[in-house]
Amino acid sequence: MKKTKVGILGATGAVGQRFVQLLENHPWFEVTELAASERSAGKSYTEAVAGRWKISADIPEYARDMQVKACKPGLDCDLVFGALDSSVAGPIESEFAKEGYFVVSNSRNHRFDDDVPLMSAEVNPEHLKLLARQKTKGKIVTNSNCTIMGVTLTLKALMDAFGLEEAMLFSMQAVSGAGYPGVPSLDILGNIVPFISGEEEKTEIEPLKILGTLTDGGIENAKFKISAHCNRVPVYNGHTVCVSVKLGKKAGIEEFKKALADFKGEPQRLKLPSAPEHPILLREEPDRPQARLDLMAGNGMATTVGRIRKDPLMDFKFVTLSHNTVRGAAGAAILNAELMKAKKLI
Ligand code: NAP
Repeated sequence: MKKTKVGILGATGAVGQRFVQLLENHPWFEVTELAASERSAGKSYTEAVAGRWKISADIPEYARDMQVKACKPGLDCDLVFGALDSSVAGPIESEFAKEGYFVVSNSRNHRFDDDVPLMSAEVNPEHLKLLARQKTKGKIVTNSNCTIMGVTLTLKALMDAFGLEEAMLFSMQAVSGAGYPGVPSLDILGNIVPFISGEEEKTEIEPLKILGTLTDGGIENAKFKISAHCNRVPVYNGHTVCVSVKLGKKAGIEEFKKALADFKGEPQRLKLPSAPEHPILLREEPDRPQARLDLMAGNGMATTVGRIRKDPLMDFKFVTLSHNTVRGAAGAAILNAELMKAKKLI
């Protein structure tokens, strides 16, 4: 298969660096362009990220001497992965789509456009049909926010098996979720901050679009309700979420566990390069998942679920953990692009 030329917008940030790492030797994509703000444009990638390369492996060889460009159409690629600060992502992504590029974005700006799929490859691949409604030559596809990416896999498995009426989510979100330099160390060391601007709103609404139904009129949101509490905790990578769910019909604990453990989607059936064998991994130990131990499950693409037990108020409760810059951002976007390529949409 001929490799698709890809660029990374926001290549110097926390998510952009993860793209640079995950796309090294990708079998279907070749990184031909790296772009960021005017502050970085014109520098080599190594110079641009000097002092702020935050991945625990060296900068991949292929990227070191690439010149960082400005985020303007004219880049030598067919698809751009978006990792831009949301204060600037909206118009830049629209401009790229207008000029014929596929845009696979992590930013929130276009997530609720009527004709833009809010995608999680295992959950709603059929939403890619929305792309036909976009009038531009290029097309935009978005990812959800990092907190719910892993949780939504579990909600999908449960919704399909039992129906869902309510979900209560309590997040404990890593500092890398705020980008770099992110939360000041004096605010977060030895502390928990019970507020992340805009996060609870996104966490309560985005799963409903992802789990919604594609109709002639667009996406009809899923009908169940979500209540979210979002907290920033002094963890480097990995968002942990405590989840309680009320199901549409009664279920025993073993069938509840089986519905989660057996869950697979189109990426697994198509054996996409970045698809984990099991999107949801169950742990039976009473003290798992833990960010330090389970972060890289399925190469960072699996959501680890543990502590499954009865909930005296709702039906069941459990804990999820997923890697916020891999499954929650760059890895999920790459999986979406792989799905689009496998379906010959790119
Ligand atoms: P970040 O570390 O702050 O990086 C932001 C990137 O945007 C940098 O490459 C920066 O380039 C670029 N940028 C800023 N202003 C620009 C401008 N005016 N023109 C062009 N480029 C500009 O942020 P991040 O954490 O990687 O997040 C990137 C996006 O992904 C955000 O929309 C965020 O909400 C979303 N997201 C983040 C996570 C996560 O876990 N961190 C997860 C899911 C989604 P310079 O280096 O040149 O300034």
